[in-house]
Amino acid sequence: MEDCIFCKIVRGEIPKEFRYKDDNIVAFDDINPAAKTHVIFAPKEHIKAFEDLTSDAILGSVRLGMQKLISEKNLAGVGYKIIVNGGGAQIVDHLHFHLIGPIGLKV
Ligand code: AMP
Ligand code: ZN
Repeated sequence: MEDCIFCKIVRGEIPKEFRYKDDNIVAFDDINPAAKTHVIFAPKEHIKAFEDLTSDAILGSVRLGMQKLISEKNLAGVGYKIIVNGGGAQIVDHLHFHLIGPIGLKV
C-alpha cells in the first residue's frame, strides 16, 4: 500500500535493520520502545488488521521469529508480552505483533 509506513519499511524505503525476516514477514525495532526489547513483526503483505488475516503461514512465521528472538534476547524466565492491537485499537493500520520484554517485577 502506497502510503502505509510498514509497507514502506517492507519495501526498504524506510531503512531498518531487520531482526528477523523470511518469505512472509519482517521484524524491526519499535521506534518508541516500551522495554529493552520491543520488536514489531509485520507481514510483507499489507493486511489491515488481525480480523482480516487468513494465512496460517504468516502466524507460523511470527511464531518462529518470536521464539528465535526470545531465545537470542534471553527473555524466557524474565517476562515478555506479545501484543496485537486490532479492531481500531491500533495506531498503524498494517497488521503487526509486538514482542516486548523484559517486563514486570523481574526486570
Ligand atoms: P499499534 O498500531 O498501536 O499496535 O502500534 C504501532 C507501533 O508502531 C507503535 O509502538 C509505534 O512506536 C511503532 N512505529 C510507528 N512508526 C514506526 C517506525 N517508523 N518504525 C518503527 N516503529 C514504528
Ligand atoms: Zn502496509
